Amino acid sequence: MLPSYYQCTSCRERFGFAHTEGYYYLNFDHVPPGAQVPVADLYTIPVRPGWCKDCATVCIVEDIAVTRVFEDAYGVVRAGRPVEYPLRTENLDLQQAQEKLAAYLRWRLERRHPARALCCGGTSYQFLDVAQPLLKHAECDFGVVEPQSQYFIGGGTYRTSGVLSPANVRVYSGEGDLMCLLTWRSRDSDTWEVTPTTYSQSMRTEPGSA
Ligand SMILES: [Zn+2]
Ligand SMILES: [Zn+2]
Repeated sequence: MLPSYYQCTSCRERFGFAHTEGYYYLNFDHVPPGAQVPVADLYTIPVRPGWCKDCATVCIVEDIAVTRVFEDAYGVVRAGRPVEYPLRTENLDLQQAQEKLAAYLRWRLERRHPARALCCGGTSYQFLDVAQPLLKHAECDFGVVEPQSQYFIGGGTYRTSGVLSPANVRVYSGEGDLMCLLTWRSRDSDTWEVTPTTYSQSMRTEPGSA
C-alpha cells in the first residue's frame, strides 16, 4: 500500500512519488527486450514506500522477501488458493496464477542484487511503511515527513493504457536495472512498444518529481 504523497508536519513541503508502479521484464530464455515486449514477460514489481537518501525524495523500493516466502506462495496457488504476495492472484485463473508464481520463484532464486530504490537503483534508502520512521528532511529542524491519504496499488493494472497516450511505465531487469519504458500498446495487443532507457538517462530527463 502506498500513500498518495508524504508531507512535512512543519514546513508542509510535499513529497510525491514520481513512479508508483514498475514491471520486471523476465525472459528465462535470456531474450533481450527489443522494440516490443510481450505482456507475458512483464511481472509486477512488489514494492514498499521508501525514502531515497541519494535522491532526497520518496520512491518505491523493491519488496523482496526471503526465498521461502516465494516457495510457500507457489505451494498455495498450486493448492488452488489465492495469494497477495508477490502478486495478487485473486483475478487470475489457476493456470495463470501457477505460471506466474513459478516465474517469480525462479526469479527469486536467481536474484543477486539487494533490493533497490527504483528511482535511481541505489540502496541508500529507508522504508516508510514502518511504525515510526520519524523522517526529517534537509534543512528543516522541526517537522517529520508523514504519509497522507492511503490508497491501494493494485497489481497488474496499468494506470494509463498506452492507447491514447504513452503509458511511460518503467520496466526493470530481474536485478532491478532500469531497461525501458512501456509506451504504446494497441487495443487487445499482447505486446507493448518500448523505448530503451537507463537510470542515468532518466535522471537527466525526469528531474525532480515532487
Ligand atoms: Zn519540513
Ligand atoms: Zn534514488
